[in-house]
Amino acid sequence: MKHPHLLSVLLPININYPFTYSCTEALEIGTIVKVSFRNRELYGVVWSQEEHVTNFDRKKIKPIITKKIGDDCISLPGDLLSFLNWVSTYYMVPLGLVLKASFKKQFFEKQGKKKIYYTFNPLHTSKITQKQETVIELLQVHGTLERNRIISISGLSNDIIRRMIRNGILKESESFVEVEEKIYLETNIDFTPEQNYAMEKINASLKQQKVTLIDGITGSGKTELYLEAATKILRQGKQVLIMLPEITLTQEFLKIFRSRFKNQVGEWHSGLSEARRRQLWYDILNKKIRLVVGARSSLFLPFIDLGLIVVDEEHDSSYKQEEGMIYNARDMAILRAKQLKIACILSSATPSVETFENIVSNKYSRAALNNRFYGTKLPTISCIDMRKAEKETDSFLPVELIEDLKKTKERNEQSLIFLNRRGYSPMSICGNCGVRVDCPHCDAWLVLHKNTLKYKCHYCGHAEESDIKCKNCHSSDKIIQTGLGIEKIDEELNRLLPDMSRIIFSSDYLPSSGSVSAALRQIKENKIDLIIGTQLISKGHNFPSLTYVGILDADFGLEVTDIRASERTYQILNQVSGRAGRVKQESKVKIMTHMPDHPLLQSLKNNQKQEFYNAELTIRNSSRMPPFARLVAIIVSSKNRKLLNEYSQKLALINNFPKDVELLGPIEAPISRMRQYYRYRFLIRGPKNCNIQLYIKRWLDSLKLAPQIRITIDVDPQNFL
Ligand code: ADP
Ligand code: ZN
Ligand code: ZN
Repeated sequence: MKHPHLLSVLLPININYPFTYSCTEALEIGTIVKVSFRNRELYGVVWSQEEHVTNFDRKKIKPIITKKIGDDCISLPGDLLSFLNWVSTYYMVPLGLVLKASFKKQFFEKQGKKKIYYTFNPLHTSKITQKQETVIELLQVHGTLERNRIISISGLSNDIIRRMIRNGILKESESFVEVEEKIYLETNIDFTPEQNYAMEKINASLKQQKVTLIDGITGSGKTELYLEAATKILRQGKQVLIMLPEITLTQEFLKIFRSRFKNQVGEWHSGLSEARRRQLWYDILNKKIRLVVGARSSLFLPFIDLGLIVVDEEHDSSYKQEEGMIYNARDMAILRAKQLKIACILSSATPSVETFENIVSNKYSRAALNNRFYGTKLPTISCIDMRKAEKETDSFLPVELIEDLKKTKERNEQSLIFLNRRGYSPMSICGNCGVRVDCPHCDAWLVLHKNTLKYKCHYCGHAEESDIKCKNCHSSDKIIQTGLGIEKIDEELNRLLPDMSRIIFSSDYLPSSGSVSAALRQIKENKIDLIIGTQLISKGHNFPSLTYVGILDADFGLEVTDIRASERTYQILNQVSGRAGRVKQESKVKIMTHMPDHPLLQSLKNNQKQEFYNAELTIRNSSRMPPFARLVAIIVSSKNRKLLNEYSQKLALINNFPKDVELLGPIEAPISRMRQYYRYRFLIRGPKNCNIQLYIKRWLDSLKLAPQIRITIDVDPQNFL
C-alpha cells in the first residue's frame, strides 16, 4: 500500500497550532480541506506539508474527509497565510482564531436555493412613485440586492417590490455584473495646482511602494486623490482595497464609489447577508471583483492580486477591534501592504499622533492639501466661556448659542449641536437616599434613554424599565437625572426654539443604514434646522447648508484621563467643526467650555495643527509613551474576586522582564467590573524596538492559568478602561 502523506491543517478554532492529518496525495499549502475534529466536521487550511511536531499516537492520525469544495479545490493565497501568521504573533492571538477571520464554514457548504438578485432596469417605461424612488436609489448604491434585503433596508412592503418587478422597473441580475473596463477607468477630473502637487507625491509613493499620508483639511479633495490612485492601480489590472470606518460605510460613500467604478465595487461590512458575503468572497478570490470598499475585517479577504490599500480616516479609533481578536486594522493594513510590497495610502484631516511621528521621522511621505476645493474658508472657531455666559431662563444653554441658532435659521441655514453623550442624562440618582442607578453586571451607571423608556448600560447592554425603584432604599420616589445627554438637549431646544425642526443623530435613533441615509437625505435637502448629534455625525458627511456648529461641553475631553485623551478630543472637535461651511462661505463654530484658555482649544481656535502635534509629541516623548515606547495591556478578569486578586498578585511577583521593560500594576481597572467579571489591569512598557511579545509570553507562561481566570492581551492599547 502506498504510504499516505502527512500534513498539518490549521483549523478556525481557538488553538494556536495546526493538527496532523493524512491524505492519499500531497496537497499544496493553502488548500481548504474538510476534516473531522472532536466529532465535528470543520474546514481548515493546509498549513504545511509536514506533520505538526507534537507527541501523538500515529495510529490515531485521521485522513482528511475531502479537499473538494463543490466540484473544485480552493486555496487561500500564500500571502494571506503569512499575514495571518504575523497578526497572530504580533497580537498574541491564537493562530486558529485569526484564521477564523478569513472565512466562514458556510462558504464551503452546499448553498441552499440559489439567491435571485435584482437590479434597476434603466430601460423601463413606468412612471416612478416616491416609494419606488427609494428602492432605485438603494440599488444605485448597492448595485444588486436580493428581494428580502431590498425590503429590509428600505422598510417597504413586498407588494411594492413585486409591482416594481412586474412593471419592469427592477430586473433579475447576476449578483455581480461584469462591466467594460473603459467605463470606470476614464476620469475627467481636473486637479487644482495644489492637488496636482499632492498627486505627484502619491504617484511617487505608488512607484516606491511607500506609505503616504494624504493630510488635508475637510473638503480639500482627499477622497478624489485616493480614488485617482485607485484608478491607476485598477488600470494595471490589480485589485484595490479601500478601508473605511464602519460608520462611514453608509450609502453616501458607496454611491460615490459606485458612480465611479460601477459594479466593480464590492462592499464588505457587518450589514451584509450571508449569501452576499459568500459571493463576494469568491469574486475576490477569482479576481472578478477588483475594488473592495470595506470595514476593518476586509483585510482578511483572499485577494489574489492586491495592488493598493487605502485607509480613509486613518486616525479613527474604530479601526481598533476591542473584542474577540484585539487588533488595529490601520496598522495591519500598513503591514499587509509592506508584506505584499505595495503602496498604502492613509487619509485624514487629523492624523493619529503615531502617523504624524512617522512623517516627522521620514518613514512615511506626506501629501498635503491646505485649501478646500470649493474655495470656502474653514469655519471661525471661538469659545463661549460657560463660567461667565448669560444663560436662558431656567436653562443651562447660553443666550449666545440660542441667538446664534435663531440667526442661522433666519438665513435659511442649518446648525449642528454636538454632544458626545447618548441618552437623556449620563447619571441618575435616587431622590430619597442619593444612591446612583448602577448596572447589576458592571461598575457603570445606567443611562436613561427616553426614546425607548429604558435605562441602559453602555458597556453590556443590560436594560431596565424606566419606572425602576431604588435598589438601595427601595423607594419609588423620583429618580433624579443629572448631567447632559443629547435627549435632554433635544428637550431644551424644543422648549426654547419650538419652531425649528430637529433631528437626533445618534445610533439609538438611527439603528440601520437605511435610517441613516433617510436622515442624511433630509439634512441635505435642508428640511432640518437643528441637528443634535453624537460622534456619529462627525464622520465624513457633507452637509451643504450647515454653517453653524455649537459644541456643548467640550471639557470632558480636556481633563487628562489617559495618554490619548487630548489627541482624541482634538480630532473629534476638528472633525465636528469640519462639517460646517463645506459649500457656503461664512461659517462659525462655538465651543462651550469652562476652560477657554486650555492649550488644546487655543490650537484649535488658531488652527495651529502643527503646534498641537508637536506639543503632543513632546509630551509623549518625555513621558515615554507611544509612539516613543511600546505598551501592552493585560486585563486579568474573573467572576471570583478573591481568585482574581490572588492570581494577579502571583503574576506581579514573577516579574521576569528584562531591565528596560517595566511591569506596571496590577491595578483595579477603572471599570472594575464588566459583564459580571471583576477586572485588574497590568501595563507593560518597553523600548520602541524590543520584542515585547516574547517577554510577555515568557511571563504569562511561567504561571499556570488558574481555573475561572481570563487573560486578555491588548497590544498597543487605545483605551485604558
Ligand atoms: P475630502 O475627502 O478632503 O473631505 P473630497 O474629496 O470629498 O474632500 O472633496 C470635497 C468636494 O470637492 C467633493 O464634492 C469633491 O467631488 C469635490 N472636488 C474635490 N476636488 C475636485 C476636483 N479637482 N474637481 C472636481 N471636484 C472636486
Ligand atoms: Zn434610594
Ligand atoms: Zn452593564
